[in-house]
Order: sequence, then C-alpha cells, then structure tokens
Amino acid sequence: MGSILIVEDNPMNMELARDVLEASGYRVHCVASAGEALEVLKESLPDLILMDVQLPGLDGLDLTRTLKQDPRTKGIMIVALTAHAMKGDRERILEAGCCGYIAKPIDTRALCREIARHLPPTKPPCLDR
Ligand code: MN
Repeated sequence: MGSILIVEDNPMNMELARDVLEASGYRVHCVASAGEALEVLKESLPDLILMDVQLPGLDGLDLTRTLKQDPRTKGIMIVALTAHAMKGDRERILEAGCCGYIAKPIDTRALCREIARHLPPTKPPCLDR
C-alpha cells in the first residue's frame, strides 16, 4: 500500500485530498507546516509527499529543496499543490525537485490522475483515471 504525507495548511484542501486519497487505498498522514513535516519524516518516510507550495514559515519549495539535499529523504516523490499554475511556476516547481504538480482549486480527478502516475492506487476513485 502506498503511503502519502500531505503538507497543507488549508484545512479544507487537506480534508479533500485526504478523503479522496484514503478512498483510493493510500495510507495518508497530514501535517500543516514544514516543521511538522520534518518531525514526521524523522519517524517514517512516505512514498510520496503532496506538498502545498504556500506554507507559513518555510514554504513548500524550500522544504522540497531541503529534502532533496538529504540522502535519507531525497528518494521521496514530491507532487506540489499550487495556487499559481502560471507560466514559469511549473519550471520553478520542477527545478526545486518536484516530479509533478496540481493546480488549486483542487480538482479531485486531476489529483487522482497525477498521484496515480507516480504511485499506483489500489481502490477507486483514483483507479482507472
Ligand atoms: Mn497554503
């Protein structure tokens, strides 16, 4: 079973992503800041991180760069969640070390499609999308 850490400070987005990913068979853990993410990662490593770009304090791309520099965490796939899917943003996200991104507002089908591209789901709704 694939495990996903969601790093998102907006409770509604966090719940939406958690619900659809849990329903798809992923094991999901949620935190609301980079600091909490670093604490969780000391204990266990997920297969994939769904990373909000705009976080209070250390932002999602800074956290991504930090994780990609650490041999222990650099293998974790990171998919960004961004409110600014504009030209140039995609490059910035991929340069930081993310393997993909999803634009907000979150479209659950787009979320499923992007996550399933990296980590196979075991149940609907992300299956067969
Ligand atoms: Mn945010």
